[in-house]
Amino acid sequence: MDSLIEKAAADLLNSNHAIALTGAGMSTESGIPDFRGPNGIWTKNPDAERRAYETYHNFLRDPKGYWQDVLSGRSILGDLTSARPNPGHEALVKLEELGRLKAVLTQNIDGLHVKAGSKRVLEYHGSVLKLRCPSCGSRYRRDEYDLQGLMQQDKLPPRCNKCGSPIKGDVVHFNEPIPADVAQESLEEAWKCDLMLICGTSAVVYPFAQLPRVARQRRSEEGRDTETTTIIIEVNAEPTPLTAEGISDYLIQGRTAEILPRIAEAVKKLSR
Ligand SMILES: [Zn+2]
Repeated sequence: MDSLIEKAAADLLNSNHAIALTGAGMSTESGIPDFRGPNGIWTKNPDAERRAYETYHNFLRDPKGYWQDVLSGRSILGDLTSARPNPGHEALVKLEELGRLKAVLTQNIDGLHVKAGSKRVLEYHGSVLKLRCPSCGSRYRRDEYDLQGLMQQDKLPPRCNKCGSPIKGDVVHFNEPIPADVAQESLEEAWKCDLMLICGTSAVVYPFAQLPRVARQRRSEEGRDTETTTIIIEVNAEPTPLTAEGISDYLIQGRTAEILPRIAEAVKKLSR
């Protein structure tokens, strides 16, 4: 374990463009339930999952009804807005500050990377802290809109300040396309990175799951011996399909909140 942490730190120091991919395993350390684990939200409540498949369609058909549901119902996720970042998030901030990490690409919707202070964060599935206009792609902080006030004055749905279209929560629902800007930028990051640190995700949900495969494909095109070899490292509680398929070079098995701070510490030590 120690030697793998040293190895990851050395690989990070040798990289020119390292990025992190993160998933549910980062958030569970902050007490946020995952979706498909043994105690996952969908696992425990298949009805909620069935309904969730209709949410995006509901918005397109009846944006006012969508917002009435959002504002009157209790969120199946609980109150994510009060969740706090954990040492795993903070370690990624530290790596960015040390100049060793260029971007965080996350599937998580809790906004914790942004809260922790990471500067370049691509929230692939959106964020509970934002609203988004599907027509023009503009995003707004949730607190820029008085949503309860709009409901009381019967003025739902909220409308985009730029184009006037109804806006929705930024979180990407089932059957909703990944927003074009974040999809494109993520693909570019996966294509140009020379180190990918995959944290707390088995990367099985597409299209996010294509990102490690893009990085791997680039490497096989370039050949193993070139100087631009892309290294793929996993930090995860369990081996994943990425481990089994040989997409990652090595797995550091353990909790992200424990392993990532040790990697950041080792990088700091080595770079002195
Ligand atoms: Zn708009």
